[in-house]
Amino acid sequence: MRLPMKLAFINGNIYTKLKPLNVAEAMVIENDKIIFTGDNNTAIKLAEKIINLNGKTLLPGFIDAHMHLDELGMYLNILDLRNTRSIEELREKLREFAKSHPGPIMGHGWDQELFKEKRWPNKNDINDIVNDRPVILTRVCVHAALVNDFFLKSMNFINDTGIVKENEFEIFRKKYNSMIPKEIKRKYILDAIDELIKNGISSIGFVSCNSEMFNILKELDYENKIPIRVNVYLNPEDLDLNINFKNSEHLKLKGIKLFVDGSLGVRTALLSEKYDDEDTYGEQVFSEEFLKNNVKKAILHNLQIAIHAIGDKAMDIAISLLNDFPGNRIEHCSVVRDDQLDKLKNINLVIQPHFIITDYWVLDRVGKRRAKFIYRFKDLANVTNIAFSTDSPVEPINPFLTIQAAVTRGKYENIPISKFPGQELSVEDSIYYYTMGSAIALKEDKIGSLNIGNFADFIILDDDPIKKNINKINEIRVKEIYISGKKLKI
Ligand code: ZN
Repeated sequence: MRLPMKLAFINGNIYTKLKPLNVAEAMVIENDKIIFTGDNNTAIKLAEKIINLNGKTLLPGFIDAHMHLDELGMYLNILDLRNTRSIEELREKLREFAKSHPGPIMGHGWDQELFKEKRWPNKNDINDIVNDRPVILTRVCVHAALVNDFFLKSMNFINDTGIVKENEFEIFRKKYNSMIPKEIKRKYILDAIDELIKNGISSIGFVSCNSEMFNILKELDYENKIPIRVNVYLNPEDLDLNINFKNSEHLKLKGIKLFVDGSLGVRTALLSEKYDDEDTYGEQVFSEEFLKNNVKKAILHNLQIAIHAIGDKAMDIAISLLNDFPGNRIEHCSVVRDDQLDKLKNINLVIQPHFIITDYWVLDRVGKRRAKFIYRFKDLANVTNIAFSTDSPVEPINPFLTIQAAVTRGKYENIPISKFPGQELSVEDSIYYYTMGSAIALKEDKIGSLNIGNFADFIILDDDPIKKNINKINEIRVKEIYISGKKLKI
């Protein structure tokens, strides 16, 4: 057995709390918990071992409340198509990747809005490059994909364009997943965890987890290979199989994830008034009856409910489902009307500020008349708890990019929504939502701040995000990360 060890961090710039801001020069931890924050002298007296921070900034570890651990791992290992500027460039990247990667091919991150050809890609753009094995290239929003003829034919699908959306897309994605061996999937999870550690993320909400991935996580946890805290939100169909799971310190079954609608990018987010750039209201993904039954089931098993809702009509449906059950979550909340704000009081809203940057075209979809409904983070934070997240791999996992987006709202990138001010958040508040806000949304009361008695989950940075020029905040690097008082290798 390890002897109790009291470890002091002195001469630091330690943000013990973000709201209101509280700075300490020292902190002492004993084993996995924080036992003191305050002045250097007291800390030195308490400690058996001392670490001099030399003025460096120490913060609670970031908590990404909504991300896809399996997909992040997968996207670290597949063809990266983000920021592809033309269909020609997409073809080149696919050609290069196919040369060195046998077996089925997945790519991710294209956005037709960025293509100089000004059109959607289609299967003829890729059929001549790979025609002897499946190819699936997912759009940046992960609600649509381009697949080649080989894949379409092997699935007996007739589709002229090769573009599959929503439920059809899910069928292809599942099929692709079934072709990947388990050893590779274990590697995906481990690679994703390494990436989180590098970025100073000590806890996550892993949403849309399936039984297969949950089983891999159980194995890894048994082998002590999960140093971070993973809170799992299962797909509803995977709940029955896992209902008796016993939580451990690093792996918890938190709840289920449901969908009301799709995304604004592919115009499947459900709006109460039509899109401005197409004759549609969007799509409802799960039926009301299915949603109701699953909400009931989760409540019965004392599990949390996380509901994906992007359009304001989807928000109406999510609100009515969660009305009687405080403490649950709505994910994204991209379009919120004035009359909905009051109804959100007892719901945790899990948002992704970096959507502002990726969805720079959002006003084309919803029109200027709805600009004030879009990503209204300050209004949301004024009525209830908000939690920051990335929806990674949809958005970059780096927390400082998320914070930058929440503070500037794309002002320096000239993003149209930045011309409608009033919803910018401060860096302090952003860090709060990324730590305490997320802890509340995950129903965790021993993480999210450096309160005495909390788990010693914290990070040491090479610069102070609160004093750093906001345009350079993304250059801050995480030098060290501790989880449960243990220093992890970055
Ligand atoms: Zn998501």
